Amino acid sequence: MSLHTELAAELAAREAQGLRRSRRLLESPQRARVTVDGRGYVAFCSNDYLGLAADPRLSAAANEGIARYGVGSGASHLILGHSTAHHELEVALAAFVRQPRALFFSTGYMANMGVVSALVGRGDAVFADRLNHASLNDAVLVSRASFKRYAHNDLDALERLLATTPARRRLVVTDAVFSMDGDIAPVAALLELCDRYDAYLFIDDAHGFGVLGEAGRGALAHFNIKSDRIIYMATLGKAAGVAGAFVAGNETLIETLIQNARTYIYTTATPPLLAHTLLTSLQIIAQEEWRRERLRELIRQLRQGLAGSSWRLLPSATPIQPLLVGGNDEALSLSVRLAEAGLLVPAIRPPTVPQGTARLRISLSADHQAEDVLRLIAALVQRT
Ligand code: PMP
Repeated sequence: MSLHTELAAELAAREAQGLRRSRRLLESPQRARVTVDGRGYVAFCSNDYLGLAADPRLSAAANEGIARYGVGSGASHLILGHSTAHHELEVALAAFVRQPRALFFSTGYMANMGVVSALVGRGDAVFADRLNHASLNDAVLVSRASFKRYAHNDLDALERLLATTPARRRLVVTDAVFSMDGDIAPVAALLELCDRYDAYLFIDDAHGFGVLGEAGRGALAHFNIKSDRIIYMATLGKAAGVAGAFVAGNETLIETLIQNARTYIYTTATPPLLAHTLLTSLQIIAQEEWRRERLRELIRQLRQGLAGSSWRLLPSATPIQPLLVGGNDEALSLSVRLAEAGLLVPAIRPPTVPQGTARLRISLSADHQAEDVLRLIAALVQRT
């Protein structure tokens, strides 16, 4: 059989299991109201939690960035791609999350890959929550450290693993807000375990940054914790509305990453115009508390609105509000039915989530209005 015949058979098998993914064509900016494949919808699909992705002030900042720096960075950071814009952003990010220093990466996926493999290798051990994001799992595999996964948020299971590991360097890795469940990791308790067992704690705050904590400073502010054991990562393509990611922590840690993180070293620097734009994002995140207030109100409205129905939302206090469906086909057909009613909500199926837990991942944004959520509730309740 030729490669292509084999691939076609694999695709057909995926299709038969209801697992074949396809892409819609977004024809408008990323907003609560979008145009997709020629039709208008209210979308509950983005990670643009604060509604900044299409904010005109960010477009203006991007234009200013182009005028100042041009479009391409032209080189990697360690050659001559590290511009004033990148530097200013790193200084602002470190101050914002109240860490000594920060390092800007092109994407969150790359930050996770780069950090984990820069810090651990053969003979070391990584302890990871079972529901961690795929990029963290891939990072551990690439690092060649021993990979120990513990049941979701199960501190006892983690403690058993930490108590018996022979590994010299130990790294506990967790999403702060779980991307497909929306719940928040017990970060303070995880840090306590790390203190007790001489481990380091890597926190992926992709979905908490901008949303959680005072002024949106993220998970560390939410839990009011600070420790040299923490390595903090957050992405900038979600609440911050642009692209990229950063790692923050102590001076030696960041300097080590500059020397060792391969996804930082061997790639062209992100266009400086994006770093420049992110400076404006940071100001908006800090200043516009109404965006987080609106989110809290929308979350309350959705949960209350579905409370008496047969639909089950997973317990979540964040803008990620997963509606548990179970079967892959059921999740997909519910998503299709909502789309017919002008509401886009993605069906999330295995392998992104465990078998039997297919769901609709409803994500809320400060760009949504109460009437958008009312429409969603009405469409869901009508069909139960
Ligand atoms: N970590 C988590 C928890 C995520 O949800 C994502 C993105 N979906 C990433 C990392 C990767 O970030 P990026 O999109 O910037 O590559």
